[in-house]
Amino acid sequence: MVVVMAPEATAKNVDAIVGLVRGAGGDAFVSRGVSRTIVGLVGDIEQFHALNLHTMSGVLDVVRISVPYKLISRENHPDRSVVWVGGVPVGPGTLTVIAGPCAVETPCQALRAARMAKAAGAALLRGGAYKPRTSPYAFQGLGERGLQILAEARAETGLPVVTEVVDAKDVDLVASYADMLQIGTRNMQNFALLQAAGSLGKPVLLKRGMNATIEEWLMAAEYIAQRGNLDIVLCERGIRTFETATRNTLDISAVPLAQRLSHLPVIVDPSHSGGHRELVLPLSRAAIAVGADGIIVDVHPNPETALCDGAQALVDGDIRELASLVQHIPPVIGRTLTPAPEPLPVA
Ligand code: PEP
Ligand code: MN
Repeated sequence: MVVVMAPEATAKNVDAIVGLVRGAGGDAFVSRGVSRTIVGLVGDIEQFHALNLHTMSGVLDVVRISVPYKLISRENHPDRSVVWVGGVPVGPGTLTVIAGPCAVETPCQALRAARMAKAAGAALLRGGAYKPRTSPYAFQGLGERGLQILAEARAETGLPVVTEVVDAKDVDLVASYADMLQIGTRNMQNFALLQAAGSLGKPVLLKRGMNATIEEWLMAAEYIAQRGNLDIVLCERGIRTFETATRNTLDISAVPLAQRLSHLPVIVDPSHSGGHRELVLPLSRAAIAVGADGIIVDVHPNPETALCDGAQALVDGDIRELASLVQHIPPVIGRTLTPAPEPLPVA
């Protein structure tokens, strides 16, 4: 932390800061420039906050140098992390594809979507059993029955399951079926949910709030980490802007920025950001090229009848192209596609 003194600050003002900081157990180093004096503080930043230095005479500004998140920051952990999901890695060096239906609707629909996901090169299966819908009249998901269907699809395809939890009270139930818990854009700052997910031993996919800054997103991840769970994958899924031609605006620069600030893997959701089928493959290419550690893509065997987000679901005719791009682009930037695990043999 650095205290910037006003041009008219006196030596006494500077001494008062130094005395206060040293009295609080920290240290302070004064640097006198031609027109400005700054005081660099070393020690426990939270304790310095309590000193209210910005209210002291002669202080122009108090600037935080280290980032406010600690456990997930690259300052504390320079190497980028790999998060394992049911034996599947997500992180540097690989490109992990997660695909599946937006919502689980029927056993047949979910299974067909899971087969499409596998054919597209996915190593993980997505699908919502609890759907956080804007309208209370829209399909809210099948609940526990949906989780059972996902478990059946995992048994057939071998793909570990990523599924959303929307309420802290459901965390244990969802974790009993899922390999990874998703926290969606609308719940990114549901702190009780973040803490509940942080207390579990299951990896968490944390989507960026549609109105959240990168720092707010990383602070939300810190809530999970603070409870002892560092198996967190960040997902950029588009943010709200003035543009209405897309559902959300994919913030592609958030990917390298989040990767520079945090050691956690960062993936991209080209489906919920673009909101239109024809944008999903171009946005997937962009996400891989920018260095995302994975993509999460909606697929549906019959999107005209989908109960949720049919307009953005890839169809059978798109699968070959998705499979080709996730095979061919990663090697160009030094990554390899994460293979799908084999299904366990039926006893
Ligand atoms: C989803 O992935 O199904 C979903 C609801 O995404 P988001 O939270 O990004 O809208
Ligand atoms: Mn959706």
